[in-house]
Amino acid sequence: MYMPLPDDGFPSLISTGHLPPPDEVEALVRQVYARYKDLDEGKVADYIPALAKVSPRLFGICVAGINGRTFAIGDATHEFSIQSVSKPFVFALVCEAIGSEEARSKVGVNATGLPFNSVMAVELNNERTMNPMVNAGAIATTSLVPGDTAEAKWRFIQDGLARFAGRTLELDSEIYESEAATNQRNRGIARLLEGYGCMYFDALQATDIYTKQCSLKVNARDLAVMGATLADGGVNPLTKERIVSGEVAKRVLATAATAGLYERSGDWLFEVGLPGKSGVGGGIVTVSPGKGGLGVFSPPLDEAGNSVRGQRVTKYLSERLGLNLFVSQPE
Ligand code: GLN
Repeated sequence: MYMPLPDDGFPSLISTGHLPPPDEVEALVRQVYARYKDLDEGKVADYIPALAKVSPRLFGICVAGINGRTFAIGDATHEFSIQSVSKPFVFALVCEAIGSEEARSKVGVNATGLPFNSVMAVELNNERTMNPMVNAGAIATTSLVPGDTAEAKWRFIQDGLARFAGRTLELDSEIYESEAATNQRNRGIARLLEGYGCMYFDALQATDIYTKQCSLKVNARDLAVMGATLADGGVNPLTKERIVSGEVAKRVLATAATAGLYERSGDWLFEVGLPGKSGVGGGIVTVSPGKGGLGVFSPPLDEAGNSVRGQRVTKYLSERLGLNLFVSQPE
């Protein structure tokens, strides 16, 4: 049963086309941090053994505007594994490489309404992978990454995600090895997809690359900058490098809005009104097109695998920064 996020009665401000002035953003980031600092709900993921060791107290927030300005607080430079937050960015790189229509026809863009690692979703739908934000579609997406060898594909992903973040991203080998030793289910999903003709590289190697991609180390600030790159029509606001086209950024954000929080995506859109993507490492990235990106890191998760504080912080800031895409008022 979905527990609605607490409503403190604050009416969502109108989307203005730009972030409020810097001192206001800074004050709001400080406010929301203080508000949720001691919230003690949710459970740190433990199905990947190494993840269970992460402290539930860690808490970092960063807002990055499309002008490259960042507002960070708490453990915003503490590194954690990106996990599923990698999915929209790898999908973006694949769309850029093969075209978003081709990627859509091979992976799909509809919500499954089911948990991120659902096998039933593959079985119940003729589209099989359904979308790139759940494991099946994400492993299929990774199998589509340019490169003839696993090593070439991995280099493409590590380099591409680094360009989104504007800095080198390293592999957390402890998390990678821990997940690689326990990811029978993902290997099963990849094999199942292979049976349906929806794998575009060796199924087990694609799963291995996907596991590595999930084990890249990022911090909340990286997530904000990566999100701001998609908010900025595909151009990284720090490095000014174009990472993907505006068309690709738009398509990726649509898939994140549809399925970024798995079976909770409808609730998320209802509450927050923005495309977002969560990961079991405790990260959530949220994108406000034309304005900026928001990265939150807090490891305790709800039952769907979404950071509890991450969701609260994002709702709070979406309302007060005037980010919700669906808010308008009559002229
Ligand atoms: N690597 C994780 C998995 O495949 C990612 C899942 C997630 O972040 N929701 O199980």
